[in-house]
Parts: sequence; C-alpha cells; structure tokens
Amino acid sequence: MQLATRVQELTPSLTLAIDSKAKALKAEGIDVCGFGAGEPDMDTPEHIKAACIEAIQSGFTKYTPSSGVPELRQAISEKFKKDNNLEYKPSQIIVSNGAKQSCYNAVTAVCDPGDEVIIPAPYWLSYPEMVRLAGAEPVIVQTTEQNTWKMTAEQFENAMTPKTKMIILNSPGNPTGSVYTKEELRAISEVAAEEEIYILSDEIYEKLTYEGAEHISIASLTPEAHDLTITVNGFSKAYAMTGWRLGYLGAPEAIAKAIDSMQSHSTSNPCSFAQKGGLAALKGDQQCVTDMRDEFDIRREYMFDRLSNISGLSAIRPLGAFYILVNISTYGLKSQNFADRLLSKANVAVVPGIAFGDDRTIRLSYATSLDVIKKGLDRLEEFCRTL
Ligand code: PMP
Repeated sequence: MQLATRVQELTPSLTLAIDSKAKALKAEGIDVCGFGAGEPDMDTPEHIKAACIEAIQSGFTKYTPSSGVPELRQAISEKFKKDNNLEYKPSQIIVSNGAKQSCYNAVTAVCDPGDEVIIPAPYWLSYPEMVRLAGAEPVIVQTTEQNTWKMTAEQFENAMTPKTKMIILNSPGNPTGSVYTKEELRAISEVAAEEEIYILSDEIYEKLTYEGAEHISIASLTPEAHDLTITVNGFSKAYAMTGWRLGYLGAPEAIAKAIDSMQSHSTSNPCSFAQKGGLAALKGDQQCVTDMRDEFDIRREYMFDRLSNISGLSAIRPLGAFYILVNISTYGLKSQNFADRLLSKANVAVVPGIAFGDDRTIRLSYATSLDVIKKGLDRLEEFCRTL
C-alpha cells in the first residue's frame, strides 16, 4: 500500500506503547503502578456535567458555528482578559476539539513546506509530528537541567535561520514542569519580534503552578508579541475534562479566520453540548480548580522529596503541570531500556524520555493517587538499588 510520505514519516507514540504494555500486565492481574498518565485522575466537577446534561436534554444537540458558540467565545474572551491580561475579541477565538487540535490548526495555518519551527527539548511529543505533518521542519533546541529545562533567548537566536517561521513554547511545561518567568519570556519575545517569528504558546497547564510561580502569557507582554502569538488553552487539565475534547486558541484576526475555515472543512464544530459544559466551567465557581491544584501540590512535594532521596536519580524541582522529569543518566541505560526493565521487573510504568527528545530521562506523572505514588516509589527505590 502506498501511503502519503507525510504519514510514512510519523513516529509511533512511545507513550502509547508503554501504556499498552502496562495495560496488558494489568489484564493478567498484575498490580502495576502507573506513572504514565497525562490527565488528571479527578472527576469532572458536577456543575460542569450538569450543564452538559441539561444541554442534551433541552435539545442542544445540533451543529454549531465551526468556531464555537458565540457565548463560549465571549466567555473565553473575558477569561483571557481577566486571567491573562490578553485582548482577544470573540472573533479572534476559535474553539476546537481539544488544545491538541488548536495546536495542530495553528501550525498548519502558519507553516509552509520548507519552513523551520523551533522547539525546545524536552518537548511535548506531538509538536515535532505536527510540524512534519505540515511539511515543515522541526528544529530542536536542547535545553539544560542547569537552566531548569528552559530555552534561553540566546539559544533561540542561535537556532534561527532565514527559514524560521515559528517557535513553540509550553509553559508550564510537559514533561519538564518548568515555568518561564516574565523576564525570560520578554527576552524570547524580543528575539521573535525582531525577526517576526510566530509564537505558538501552549498554556494548557496554566492553572497548575506551585510555590508562587506565576503563569505569564507571552502575548500579554508587548503589542509586537501579541501580534505574533497564537495562545492555546483548554479545559482538559484545569477542569479534569480530557475526554470532552474541548480547547481553544486566541490569534491575530487573519490567522483565526484561516483556522475557522480549515476547521469548517475538516472537523466542523466542537461538540455542541461539550461547549455548554465549557461555558459552565468558565462561568462557574473556580474553587474546583484550586482544590485540584492543591491536591496535585501535595503529591508533587511528596514525589519530589522521595525521588531526591533515591541515590542515582536526580530531578529539577517542578513548579508547574503534574510531571517530574527524572535524570537516570548515572545508570548508563537508554531511557526505553530503563523504562522496559522498570516495568517488567518492578511493575512500575513510566514514560521514557526519548519520547520527549531526551534519552537521559524518564517522566513520572503525579496525576494518580498518593497511595499509588507511595507504592510505586517504594518499588522504584528498590529497583534502583538492585540495578
Ligand atoms: N498540550 C500539552 C503540552 C499537553 O500535555 C496536552 C495533553 N497531554 C495537550 C496540549 C492536549 O490537551 P487537550 O486534551 O486539550 O487536547
């Protein structure tokens, strides 16, 4: 079968491979401690579910405008202003089937074949593939542990060529847990503005920051940055709504219009009644967001302390999202090999860092109960002792 070149070059997801191995072991009745989760383990808050159920019962079950219902785009516009100091008119907002689709749309709307897109590593594994699907070239910039896995403006500048079209930023970051400061973002935005490089700012973990770390939207820093940035956000992580498939972006008018058009010919609108749930999430009490964040914070503290005391492992204290990236390089094993052995010998599932462009690391998610975290870390500690 002759498939299109663009799909032949896709890398299969390593996250899914390890996940299916873990599931197969579980199906055999083996008690696996899973640290692979990329989604909150909490349930979607009741008032959000109720709004969706009410929408279905009242017949809100038909097509909507492809960019989302006007009330939701208005609510997102207000959210951007209130939370992020961002000015996006409802016409600049496109609601999609998840932040993932919003990122994909943004890359596709801006990048041509031959363009280069700068991605700091370790990165969320879908970014390079999205860039390749658009026919463009990912240019990976390796960040360092010393700089808490963050790309400096200087590294950005050095990676730039005349073909550079876009840079992808993700703060708070998956898999690093890093949060860029205002000063760091300002320096990056100045470099981008000088060469008119578009910025895709994936802010899906915005609500999950710790120890006073502040989430900053790069588009809020200067008018130039605002005109070059596509800000992506969504409901999955803040409101535990991963299965709802609801995300959004704010973009300069011309980009938003192009994305609306693309979406109208591909996926049409995001699910009608999910949008009503999203509206309830934004308009309702935000205590649920704080409660989930606080729960993640307790687990983060515990997991980081335990990991710091396992000799041979090291990690940067994460200030955001729900992941800890652990350096395993003292063992001299490739990350996939380390993760495979950990799963088969100790029944602990983690994601090998190679999936994120860094073979010296593994990623542990703390989006699982404290009991599982305790048990899994006991096993990891024992595994490291005998390695
Ligand atoms: N961006 C990042 C960095 C993510 O980790 C994820 C989820 N794993 C997404 C986007 C996708 O979120 P959504 O469920 O809204 O598509």
